Amino acid sequence: MRLRIGILALQGDFVPHAMMLKRLNAESRLVRKASDLIDLDGLILPGGESTTMTRLIEFASLHQPILTLIASGIPVWGTCAGTILLGKQGTDPRVRSLEAIDIEVARNAYGRQSESFHADVIIRELETPFEGIFIRAPKIVSIGDSVQVKGKFNDEIVFVEQNNVWASTFHPELTSDVRIHQLFLKFCEEKKR
Ligand code: GLN
Repeated sequence: MRLRIGILALQGDFVPHAMMLKRLNAESRLVRKASDLIDLDGLILPGGESTTMTRLIEFASLHQPILTLIASGIPVWGTCAGTILLGKQGTDPRVRSLEAIDIEVARNAYGRQSESFHADVIIRELETPFEGIFIRAPKIVSIGDSVQVKGKFNDEIVFVEQNNVWASTFHPELTSDVRIHQLFLKFCEEKKR
């Protein structure tokens, strides 16, 4: 059976995630309303703009349904803005966090759009570095005791995991390297069993 992965598709770069999943022969479903969350094997919260996503999540009444899905143990992975939404509530009231992973995240911590960059990320499960694309990326400024580090660039933690939740501050979906999506699908497969 092919895995069915939901991608929150209210705003941001959900299409590149769908293209990655297609390359890996998984089914993707664009999530825009609560009923789209039924019967998923995983969920991706893409990059984009977390303030705008917050408004659209409220508008679509998706906050609680996403929390319920996370609580059910289904794998959820946030990239960039998705990581901001999954972390602890920050100081900006325009972003309503899901507080699904015990990390503190600082938005736009590397500066403006022009300070966006590419850098080699060392991923625990991968033998060679992964090209991390950081676009107005957040920084993970602290992690709780039960959070595991999955990826670092220099000394910075840029990819973490706690229970069924993954959060990365970079954008694997914008590269042609399928390895992290492959790992996510493997994780979804294991949880499904
Ligand atoms: N700076 C964006 C935010 O706050 C995130 C950028 C991204 O997802 N590439 O939400």
